[in-house]
Amino acid sequence: MSEERLRQYVEQQELVLNVTRRIAGNVGLDEMIPHILHSADRALRADGVRLLLTEPGVRWRAFATGERAGVMAQADARLLAYVTGHGEAELSRVAGDGPLLDELGVSSELACLIALPLVAHQTQHGILWLGFQQPHAFGSADRVFLSILAGQVAIAIANARSFEAARKRREWLSAILASTPDPVLVVDREMCLQLVNPAALELVAALSEESIGQPLDQVVGAEDLVQLLHDFGNGDAHNLEYAAENGYTYSPSISDVRTESGEMAGWVLVLRNITHFKRLNDNMSEFLSTVSHDMRSPLTFMKGYLDMLGMVGELNEKQDGFVDKIAIGVVQMSDMVEKILDAGKIDPVAGTYELSREPSDIVQMFNDVMSRLAEPAAKQGLELTGTISGAVPILNVDQALLTSAFTNLVENAVKYTPEGGHIEVTLNVQDNNLVLRVTDDGYGISAENQKKLFQRNVRVHRKEWKRVKGSGLGLFIVKNVAQRHGGDAWVKSKEGEGSTFTIVIPLAGENMVVAETAAETPE
Ligand code: ADP
Repeated sequence: MSEERLRQYVEQQELVLNVTRRIAGNVGLDEMIPHILHSADRALRADGVRLLLTEPGVRWRAFATGERAGVMAQADARLLAYVTGHGEAELSRVAGDGPLLDELGVSSELACLIALPLVAHQTQHGILWLGFQQPHAFGSADRVFLSILAGQVAIAIANARSFEAARKRREWLSAILASTPDPVLVVDREMCLQLVNPAALELVAALSEESIGQPLDQVVGAEDLVQLLHDFGNGDAHNLEYAAENGYTYSPSISDVRTESGEMAGWVLVLRNITHFKRLNDNMSEFLSTVSHDMRSPLTFMKGYLDMLGMVGELNEKQDGFVDKIAIGVVQMSDMVEKILDAGKIDPVAGTYELSREPSDIVQMFNDVMSRLAEPAAKQGLELTGTISGAVPILNVDQALLTSAFTNLVENAVKYTPEGGHIEVTLNVQDNNLVLRVTDDGYGISAENQKKLFQRNVRVHRKEWKRVKGSGLGLFIVKNVAQRHGGDAWVKSKEGEGSTFTIVIPLAGENMVVAETAAETPE
């Protein structure tokens, strides 16, 4: 290697090192590219160097250095297209590439050129090309130098672009969060606060920008939020409300935050102000309860007079039929009134009702419900079977409410199972719990609907039971009665196969009859 060549080689190595340092130093593209062009120019003694940066929405952005760079510009478009299609190009008039160079619009002042695509992460970001007035023999060291340089530049461009995209996304995200009236908080897996929007800062006085990065449970005054997150973690997220110091009520919704690879990163807590809806709802419940209560007595005497109609004189067949229809209507209305009153009593938010516990014969209760529903089931062509296995103790429960819960489940199975179906009701004691199960082979319930069935006033409509009447209160009563007795209720169902509803009540604590009043276990 000649001394001149060796010097050039060492110089090239230093330039590559320099470029690498700048890239690692995260210098902006506008500052870095001119330096790179200059390096390429110096290292290869070119007469002009151009770097074309393709950008979405723009044809390209050109950076240039060297005396002949201006003349070279006229070939930019065609050379960019050529290199994009063919890859790296080394063209020289001496080697017979004159016609192609002319076709590409390269000035006759240039004897040769070398052009390289700038590719990183399988994306081409532009080209780098160098022009020479004199024929130039590119050595392998030149080529290696240029391809390293092009590779480094491409990586720098790709990094700068993804950094810019991330910055824009961040800016968007914070603009969205700032304009969201709902308080939003994000915590990581260690429950350290990672993000908080202005609405949340305003709501929780204890939070400030300084709280970012701190464990939420060490922020004095944020205990309620910590409790909310814990309740969510324990699966108690349903019907949760957050009564804030500002007098408003919020409905929290908490979702997992996952990375692109699906790894758990933390939680996002959004608080929706539901004060207005809650007030409306409370007013509606109160109004319904008052009206329902006042309807009880007229319904009772309507029923009484209906019963007496037949006693005061013979009714003809038509009149008998009408009386039956009125009686059905009165029973439906009475059922509805009782459900509204029961739901109002045990509503976990608005209800103030204390359970009226008394020693209750659960077996008797079960048999009463089953015999009451035997006729409606038979009328619908359903097979209704009830089984009690093992001994079931007398329990200290609210008999009226528990009967209502049992009835609702069996009644639903009757209402929502098509003709010819089977309903199996079982009662037994399992793991020190009283367990009532109602299984039908009806239409079943989708997973989506199963989640909301137990909420107040939720009905699921299907064309098959368009004419079935209901209030959407039955399962709300079932769940809350079970919970007020320390138990729970749930459903397992598969569409097209049927459903199993279960009520579980623990045989412990207040549910147990105290020793002196304990009755014998019925057979
Ligand atoms: P209602 O029966 O008055 O509509 P419920 O709270 O008792 O109110 O039930 C809520 C919804 O759950 C019903 O509208 C119905 O769509 C669905 N559902 C209840 N029980 C069953 C069942 N056994 N099979 C299929 N769907 C059911």
